[in-house]
This record gives sequence, C-alpha cells and structure tokens, in this order.
Amino acid sequence: MKFTRFEVESTVHTGVMENETIKEIKGNMFGEWEFTGNAFAKDEVKLLAPIVPNQIIGIGANYVSAKIDLPEELPAIPVFFFKPGSSVIGPEEKIVIPKDIEQVKFESELAVIIGKDAKSVPEEDVLDYVFGYSVGNDVTAPQFFHSDGHWTIGKAFDTFTPLGPVIETELDPFSVHVEAKLNGEEKQNSNTDLMIISIRKMISYLTNVMTLKPGDVILTGSPVGAEMVGPGDVIECEIKGIGTLRNTFAAARESVKSV
Ligand code: MG
Repeated sequence: MKFTRFEVESTVHTGVMENETIKEIKGNMFGEWEFTGNAFAKDEVKLLAPIVPNQIIGIGANYVSAKIDLPEELPAIPVFFFKPGSSVIGPEEKIVIPKDIEQVKFESELAVIIGKDAKSVPEEDVLDYVFGYSVGNDVTAPQFFHSDGHWTIGKAFDTFTPLGPVIETELDPFSVHVEAKLNGEEKQNSNTDLMIISIRKMISYLTNVMTLKPGDVILTGSPVGAEMVGPGDVIECEIKGIGTLRNTFAAARESVKSV
C-alpha cells in the first residue's frame, strides 16, 4: 500500500495512492484509519512529503561499490546523525543551496519509516517494527562539517531532506536498487546488499540506545556516486516499487557563514 500526503486548495490530506488515483483516508496511518470516500486524481494535487517525521536519523558512509569491498569487521559504533524535521520537503520542491557556498551534495537513500515503539529489538525482529519505506535525499553541505567531525550543521539546512513520493508498505528492502539521476544521467545505482551496516543491524543497534517511535525516519545511507551540484541541477532519486523523488536545486538566502 502506498501512503501519501497531499495538498488540495491549501488543505493537507492523507491518502492511499492506487495508480493515478489517491483515495483519501482519515485516522492514524500507523493504527486505526479508514477511507473517507473522497478520491483525487494524482495530477490534480500537490504531493507533500508522505510523513511529518517524528525524528530523522541518518547513517554515514554506509555503502561499498562492490560486495568484495564489504569489510570483515563492522565498526563498533556506527556513525549516526540527526537531521531536523524542518529540513523536510516534498517532491518537486526546491532544495535551497545556502548563500555562502556554490554547491551541495545529493544522496539518494532508502528511508525506513518506523511504525511502532521499538526498544531493544533483536536483528531478526526489526522488520516487525517497520511501517514502510520511502525515498530520501540526504542533501549535505560538507563545507559545514565541523573540523572536529560533527556533521549536524552540514546536514541540517532547511530543504535538505526531500522525502517521497509515497511510503510503500509492501517493499522488500533487501532486493531493491537505490538510484539517482542528475539532469537525466545516472549517477547512483546500487542494490541495498552493498550496505556495510544492514538495515536489521542499524535499527537493532539504534533501539538499544533509544526507543524508536512511529514516524521516526531512518536514512540508511547513500550508494557510491553522490556528487556536488549547483543551482538549476535536477535530481531524481528513485527506488523502483516506491517511486521517483524529483527536486531542483536553487540558490540561496541568508548568510550563516559565521556567528
Ligand atoms: Mg547520507
């Protein structure tokens, strides 16, 4: 099932997408919900990010280019980072490049949406806590990575987390390719089996640290091939079975170069 959020005449709705039609629902996507009976043509609405995340957690540097490069030993403490909810935008919205820099990096990623409270979950049970999957773009300005290794600011600008176009609940996350096309040219295309820390491992690890909640979004890392891009560039992040998340980069606004 493909859950979506969308706007019609400045009102936000939630629905289930079936081909070119969106059937409106009411209630809690993660619990009790029902169809309202209203339906909209996909072309007639503005798609929004399919969720307002509770929190967004990313994992760093999580893909190799070939299976032979997978490390024998995994890092004891994976590199995780938070992204603010204010960084989320939907399909077709502009990604704004901060004023003091020329370029930012796109990172097409499989986004995992948690569906119920998850505390100390063993690896084999992780998928029981997953509601569904979306496509995320973990836009990054490495120019704002702190020299001490902190990534927060470089990941946190408004518009730096496009999500969408839907949350697919039926996907097998272990047999999909994470793809990106820049201005129509393929830049990323890797199976999720090239992740260094698997979806089961990263989510199990996180639940031993913090209780994950419905609406938490885990960005599972980006395949090799991410590049720096500038104003006017068009990025299409795609996972077949979920859809294509298309955004255009635009230049800028206030300076945050120094305090
Ligand atoms: Mg990333």
